[in-house]
Amino acid sequence: MDRDKLEDSILARGKELFAALGDEAPSVFNKDWWTGRLMDWSMRHEDFKLQLFRFIDVLPCLTSDQMLAEHIREYFSEGQNVPAVLKLGAKSAGIGGRLGMKVVGGTIRKNLESMARQFIIGNSIPETVKNIGRFRRKGFAFTLDVLGEATVSEQEADAYAENYMRLLEGLQSGQDDWPALGDGNSALNWGCAAKIDLSIKPSALYSQLNPADFEGSVGHILDRLKPVYRKIVELNGSMCIDIEMRRHKEITFELYRRLRSDAEFKDYPHLSLAMQVYLKSCDRDIDQMLDWAREQGLPISIRLVKGAYWDYEVVAARQNGWPIPVYTHKAETDAAFERCAERILGNHDLCRLACASHNVRSVCSVLELARALEVPDERYEFQVLYGMAEPFRNALVKTTGRVRLYCPQGELLPGIAYLIRRLLENTSNESFLRQTYVEGRELEELLKAPHLLLEERSAEVAGEHSESSGSQSDMGRFANQPFADFSLAEIRDAFNTAIVDVRKKLGKTYLLSIGGEEVETGTLVESANPARPREVIGRVCQAGAEQIEDAIGAAEDAFGKWRDTPACERAGYLIKAAQVARDRIYELSAWQVLEASKQWNQAYNDVGEAIDFLEYYAREMIQLSKPRYMGHAPGEVNEYFYQPKGVAAVIAPWNFPLAISCGMSAAAIVAGNCVIYKPSNQTPVIGYTLMEILREAGLPPGVFNYTPGSGAVMGDLLIEHPHISLIAFTGSVQVGLGIIERAARTPEGQRSVKKVIAEMGGKNAVIVDDDADLDQAIPHIIDSAFAYQGQKCSACSRVIVLDSAYDRFIERLLAAARSVSIGPAEDPANFMGPVISEDARRSITEYIDIAAKEGTILYSSDVPDEGYYVPVTIVGGITPEHRLAQEEVFGPVLATMRVKDFDQAIEWANSTRFALTGGVFSRSPKHIEQCRREFRVGNLYVNRGCTGAMVERQPFGGFKMSGVGSKAGGPDYLLQFMDPRTVTENTMRRGFVPIRSEDEWIE
Ligand SMILES: Cc1cc2nc3c(=O)[nH]c(=O)nc-3n(C[C@H](O)[C@H](O)[C@H](O)COP(=O)(O)OP(=O)(O)OC[C@H]3O[C@@H](n4cnc5c(N)ncnc54)[C@H](O)[C@@H]3O)c2cc1C
Repeated sequence: MDRDKLEDSILARGKELFAALGDEAPSVFNKDWWTGRLMDWSMRHEDFKLQLFRFIDVLPCLTSDQMLAEHIREYFSEGQNVPAVLKLGAKSAGIGGRLGMKVVGGTIRKNLESMARQFIIGNSIPETVKNIGRFRRKGFAFTLDVLGEATVSEQEADAYAENYMRLLEGLQSGQDDWPALGDGNSALNWGCAAKIDLSIKPSALYSQLNPADFEGSVGHILDRLKPVYRKIVELNGSMCIDIEMRRHKEITFELYRRLRSDAEFKDYPHLSLAMQVYLKSCDRDIDQMLDWAREQGLPISIRLVKGAYWDYEVVAARQNGWPIPVYTHKAETDAAFERCAERILGNHDLCRLACASHNVRSVCSVLELARALEVPDERYEFQVLYGMAEPFRNALVKTTGRVRLYCPQGELLPGIAYLIRRLLENTSNESFLRQTYVEGRELEELLKAPHLLLEERSAEVAGEHSESSGSQSDMGRFANQPFADFSLAEIRDAFNTAIVDVRKKLGKTYLLSIGGEEVETGTLVESANPARPREVIGRVCQAGAEQIEDAIGAAEDAFGKWRDTPACERAGYLIKAAQVARDRIYELSAWQVLEASKQWNQAYNDVGEAIDFLEYYAREMIQLSKPRYMGHAPGEVNEYFYQPKGVAAVIAPWNFPLAISCGMSAAAIVAGNCVIYKPSNQTPVIGYTLMEILREAGLPPGVFNYTPGSGAVMGDLLIEHPHISLIAFTGSVQVGLGIIERAARTPEGQRSVKKVIAEMGGKNAVIVDDDADLDQAIPHIIDSAFAYQGQKCSACSRVIVLDSAYDRFIERLLAAARSVSIGPAEDPANFMGPVISEDARRSITEYIDIAAKEGTILYSSDVPDEGYYVPVTIVGGITPEHRLAQEEVFGPVLATMRVKDFDQAIEWANSTRFALTGGVFSRSPKHIEQCRREFRVGNLYVNRGCTGAMVERQPFGGFKMSGVGSKAGGPDYLLQFMDPRTVTENTMRRGFVPIRSEDEWIE
């Protein structure tokens, strides 16, 4: 192919198409209309745009005039640069302007709703059918997309599939009245394409979609998709599987392959798949799909799109520590579009192309590539979104004759996510439509080949690239261990393999480690798999009084040398340990799955957090080890620095068996202390892996001693031992308070007052405001309350809901709870597993009995017979006086509380003796601000769940009865493991004074 000639023809075609557009702007940019004026204003005022989009997001929930007026005031009245219509509304809403609150609020609502309707072809099925008939008469084919992509329960997923079935019935009667588009000689549009076409979002068809459960997710979606597709086939229609977030990509591709090759449908060719070229993997993905189709001998269709979730993908990658999966320069995406289109057109015998873009350059390149490759017309078509780029679609239908409108249909409320995506897209700086209609870019610039733009850019930015490491030390800046990306098959495989491998190692005997020596004792305790109590994880030697004395002796022997080891060397051991853990991350996770019944993601995150603690505290210690010089008086030097406390007892819990053990131990060690570590009796084998990690990192003998044993025997001995200087404990409030009390005693021979760092329980509440986004709140609350069986000290155990939102919330919450599956954690299909032990099961069951007396059990799930299972339990009618509102249950029991207003919600949230975590779902800026001030907890989360704090980003810990000490994973944590010292030197000798630059001296 002659590339220069091709480029010339693209430019010529582009100019022709631009000429055909005329002067009319698309309605979103047309300033004769309210929408156009609003968009124009928001593109010129970024702050306003943010507020406006957030307001549009909350609008459907503002069911009363009062709510509407309050939100208008909160969102807009403080800004100066607000368009008149909204400013007027806000003023009137606040101080009773001329039109009055009701009228202005109503006008704004009406205008915004009509803006949303610009993108929605019909609310009801008859309206939809009527409108597509109208567009067909203008020559446009259609594909319909039912709005409502957020399904939080299986009930909602069923309803979504049902909507498609109803729509198809509506279309069935309509299609007889529609002559085929094109020359009309066929039953098919343009002789090749079905008249009825639906687009479907797979994620909406399964509420529990989970990349880790690849097979289960594909299977459940297919169960709902197949009947819809069967009906489509019956109507001689076609279907396109839309593509959404990158993490669902492989599941979506697999769905397409399964459906396309299904014996029932393989002879029916009208099934297509959307593919996103902004993904760096797109070229490879397309090749693989084409190879598959060729191998199977099945013709396929691809709708090529650039991708609608660009901002989301960048944020998600940054938050999870993953490589950014999308191109980050617009021209790269545009170049990929042309490249991928060429790939598909080059295989037109096998694959039909739908070019979905509003970009004149992209579309013209497809037109000209198709001509150059001699692709028959019926092998490609063009698609545009309804409500966008009207002049473009009109010109395109005249030029090509084969244009399909992608038409969302349905109600406004579920359409808001769609509307916001469209507004973001239209108003983004990079948008072709914005550049054309708002920025007024030159034609030549707009039509320029993307690869030329890239070449120009790379010349400009050469050298500007190197990402700043913001180096804190020569170790580089701290970064959290990335989360596991279970959408990648290699990660799922590694997990499965690790579980198989670890299972082969079960049942071994584990010895103590004291002063670097393995020590066997006569008492052995078995640790078991909570999902299969007969499966022994390991037999673990128990320390008694003698071993405790030995361990403390070994720690004391090691202490002097360890204390005087330079801090950066001590930190170096932690960095090595982090690497050891990283190298063993799947195996360490598998131990957690089997011994602690943690689900895959929970297990991996626990190991990740352990690595984070090692990396973070290493860097923090290096900072703290630099002496500070205090004061500015000349003639003296005041040096302020820290020294370790001595021998530390670390008493760890089972719920974060590696992370918390490692965090407390690493902090003590890097600060220069020596550690006697007692793991939980439920997870001693995971505790042993911590010892292995530190040993492999080369930690000197005696610095870390592994001494499992019963709380009653060795816990007490350790706490009361006079040679222990520091106790770091995480666990229940009862045990914690007991430790604090006993540690305060000073028996004979005690050398220092013991320091106790105790992280204890919580009775954490999440408030749901009347304007909360329930699509977001419900999955987060389910996760916060029931993930890892509710056995996190940060777990949500009370949900406090405003009266007006309560019924709707509860209905959806219960449906969501009914949708989760329960079973062994090693199967990623299960969201919840067994609790840690029979004792825990018994205690939680007692609380469920109390709950039934104090309130009403709204939901109690079934559970498997074998294993320590407790049902997912949701309780209604709970008020602050109830035990269920005050006592920590530590299991999957969620109390729901109904309050009259937001003030009462905060009052109830604060009404316990705990103050650990809390959450609020609200879209009222005023209420969010009120929570910041008045919702008094250690970690408050706004519009997200209340678990999952990350090292450095969310330093973790509470106050009141939730703990003493400063936050783990935060900047003050290490200080607790050390004593500060000051050394003052008089530097004046016989009147001669060295003057330092910081000293206050005469100018
Ligand atoms: C009929 C139809 C169906 C669609 N179906 C889907 C679907 O199933 N799934 C889906 O995700 N999208 C879908 N889309 C939306 C599509 O992905 C684009 O978001 C939209 O069409 C805008 O692209 P454009 O070529 O029209 O405009 P342009 O303005 O040329 O391109 C905008 C696009 O460029 C990309 N981009 C923006 N900024 C950057 C940057 N800094 N670096 C790199 N790339 C950037 C983004 O993908 C953005 O959407 C569909 C679009 C149409 C027309």
